[in-house]
Amino acid sequence: MNILDRYHAMEYGPAPEARNEADAWLAARDFSKALFIGGDWKAASGGKTFETSEPSSGKLLAKVSDANAADIDAAVAAATKALPKWSAASGYVRAKVLYAIGRAMQRHQRLFAVLETIDNGKPIRESRDIDVPLAIRHFIHHAGWAQALDKDFPGHKGVGVVGQIIPWNFPLLMLAWKIAPALAAGCTVVLKPAEFTPLTSILFAEICERAGVPKGVVNIVQGGPEAGVAIVNHPGIQKIAFTGSSEVGKIIRKATAGSGKKLSLELGGKSAFIVFEDADLDSAVEGLVDGIWFNQGQVCCAGSRLLVQEGIADALIAKVKTRMSRLRVGSPLDKNTDIGPLVDLTQLDRVKGLVAEGDRQGAVCWQPDAALPSSGYYHLPTLATGVSPANILAQEEVFGPVLATMTFRNTEEAIELANNTRYGLAASVWSENVNLALHVAPQLKAGVVWVNGTNMFDAACGFGGYRESGFGREGGREGMFEYLTAKLPLGPVIKPATTSAQPVEQADGSAIDRTAKLFIGGKQVRPDGNYSLAIATAKGKLAGEVGLGSRKDIRDAVSAARGAKAWPEATAYNRSQVLYYLAENLSGRAGEFAARLTELTGATPKAAREEVEQSIERLFLYAGLADKFEGRVHQPPARAVTLALHEPVGVVGIVAPDSSPLLGLISLVAPALAMGNTVVAVPSERYPLLATDLYQVIEYSDIPSGAINIVTGRSAELAGVLAKHDDVDGLWVFADAETCAKAEAESIGNLKRVWSGNGRSLDWASDEAAGDAFLRRAVEVKNVWVPYGD
Ligand code: NAD
Repeated sequence: MNILDRYHAMEYGPAPEARNEADAWLAARDFSKALFIGGDWKAASGGKTFETSEPSSGKLLAKVSDANAADIDAAVAAATKALPKWSAASGYVRAKVLYAIGRAMQRHQRLFAVLETIDNGKPIRESRDIDVPLAIRHFIHHAGWAQALDKDFPGHKGVGVVGQIIPWNFPLLMLAWKIAPALAAGCTVVLKPAEFTPLTSILFAEICERAGVPKGVVNIVQGGPEAGVAIVNHPGIQKIAFTGSSEVGKIIRKATAGSGKKLSLELGGKSAFIVFEDADLDSAVEGLVDGIWFNQGQVCCAGSRLLVQEGIADALIAKVKTRMSRLRVGSPLDKNTDIGPLVDLTQLDRVKGLVAEGDRQGAVCWQPDAALPSSGYYHLPTLATGVSPANILAQEEVFGPVLATMTFRNTEEAIELANNTRYGLAASVWSENVNLALHVAPQLKAGVVWVNGTNMFDAACGFGGYRESGFGREGGREGMFEYLTAKLPLGPVIKPATTSAQPVEQADGSAIDRTAKLFIGGKQVRPDGNYSLAIATAKGKLAGEVGLGSRKDIRDAVSAARGAKAWPEATAYNRSQVLYYLAENLSGRAGEFAARLTELTGATPKAAREEVEQSIERLFLYAGLADKFEGRVHQPPARAVTLALHEPVGVVGIVAPDSSPLLGLISLVAPALAMGNTVVAVPSERYPLLATDLYQVIEYSDIPSGAINIVTGRSAELAGVLAKHDDVDGLWVFADAETCAKAEAESIGNLKRVWSGNGRSLDWASDEAAGDAFLRRAVEVKNVWVPYGD
């Protein structure tokens, strides 16, 4: 036997992490008093407990207080009491507290890691080297934001009391992602961990006591969905931050509709791992190990769909299988272990069920020939080949160590396959050609893209998804905005539309038809239903008629907006020029628009002229900002740069208010267009002729067909159609409170981003009704990680 043979024949010796400190910690606690409320440890008022057990053995670890609605009331009361002092404290005071938390966590780093591994089942290497250090980094990073608040977020203040609900896959890290920005922003929190993994949050609460966090600023309540529901519905909470499944995310979106609560949702994923034929295959294989087998695949951004270019598929799959055979499945406390148990028996059964179903649907599921430990919720790493795009393993989030593989022929097909999912959380692109990788990254519908890498995270770089992966970002500057509110200048309360506008049958005679039509795909078209609305002047006379838009018209408009590729693909400079031209053309007809405003709204000629002037000025503003509201480059503590790109949200529906009908419409449409979105606008129901008069201005302004579409009609009805339409990515609604609430509730199909005025209009003439607050809503931030160095 030569040395190499000996080396290969060598067995791993066990390298277990000591658990005595963790066991001593467990033995010393009274978990029946595990609710941390107002700085005190309390039992659940209903006296109930739930069990948390060890996934590697099934053994009971603790019986933990199970909070009910009364406990949530108490926690919200404590957070509310603590809020005034905490939010008024200087940034420096808050920074010192955040720093103290980070430092105290560092001192107990090992205990955190061991407890996390015992409770969740993740390999100690991961909890020790990734979860815990990253959680600490979040607190220390956000200490800086607390002090930078006044300078970096002028006009913003903390949103108030925040309810935070987190899952079990990264218990401590998700807690850090939630609590650190909230405290930096001056909010107080009520956080509920997942019922499978309460332990590290209890240790964290002890750290808060020691680090001098004022009582009531951080409240941690243990419990299951009942406690979660009580947080979501609590009227004393101003923001809900949720991480968990898309299914529960949708329930929460619906439950908070109309409440005025700010909401961020970090949900599931089905992320693509794309390997082009010029990739370094060995690196890609190591990336895959990290991408799908990290934390047993129980990762929201797991690269669970391997898309590989046809020519290298066999070679890559062979390498993957070889590597899979070497993955060590076993005790998560062993430092050699790559794959530990799943979190719970229910999760194991779910994964097994999905694999069996994938198999039944034609996938070929392969597992290495390895023995599983005799107890615990283990599942072998699994590779599914021959997976059709419709197979359950290609579509459903498995949340287990299961990789589904598909092949592609060329770049276009890779992008199409990658985007063929209802999710949009993350993607990895593997190619030695950085030009190709950076060509593909912007075309992927995902909030995070890793080039030649995977699962890279940092507190300074935002993380979050598109589509059914949710909305909002965690980390960095964009993450801070989730806990802040900007003062927008409020306008009048919007009342439900009156029936003053009456439908009339449209004339089809030979007389010259002066009825304003709809504007769809660059053309003036009759409404599908062939009905019109009679529009009255301020004096109650007939001013004209407009088309009565219907569901079908909105569908046509959305499809025109989706097809208008020229606008989002245009350069920002190009969009800027077109918007300037639009302003110029409106200015040429300013007198006519002012007269129309006076005729319809009864505004004085002076006020009408002012509104037209302000509309032109606003177009000018956004024309100028089109190429200035740009992303950033982050330099995380890794050999990588992160490009935080501003991308258009996509197709944006806009329901404009009656107040300042021209300026209101333009104040909403212009920022959306400036950032490259395409728009379906429903103008003021009462004064739609101002919008229909714009058709010719638009036609003369070089705006590509379909970039802006206008559908006149009943605002409430059309808002509902836009809300339910799954090809609309964003919806801005300035309508009565009921219409706004319904739009939020009905947006859950594709979890579109809804911005609602909650029944209030804005003071559109104010300078504060323009600028960054609008542009921010018009973009998604995509973080593209680009590593460097050999
Ligand atoms: P889950 O949605 O079942 O539970 C998440 C949390 O919500 C738990 O604390 C649970 O008690 C609570 N909850 C359950 N029903 C509720 C309700 N009706 N109202 C309020 N709260 C309720 O998810 P899970 O199984 O714990 O976690 C796995 C999911 O989390 C996966 O889909 C994963 O992709 C997702 N996840 C996403 C991210 C991200 O950043 N996007 C990160 C981690 C996990």
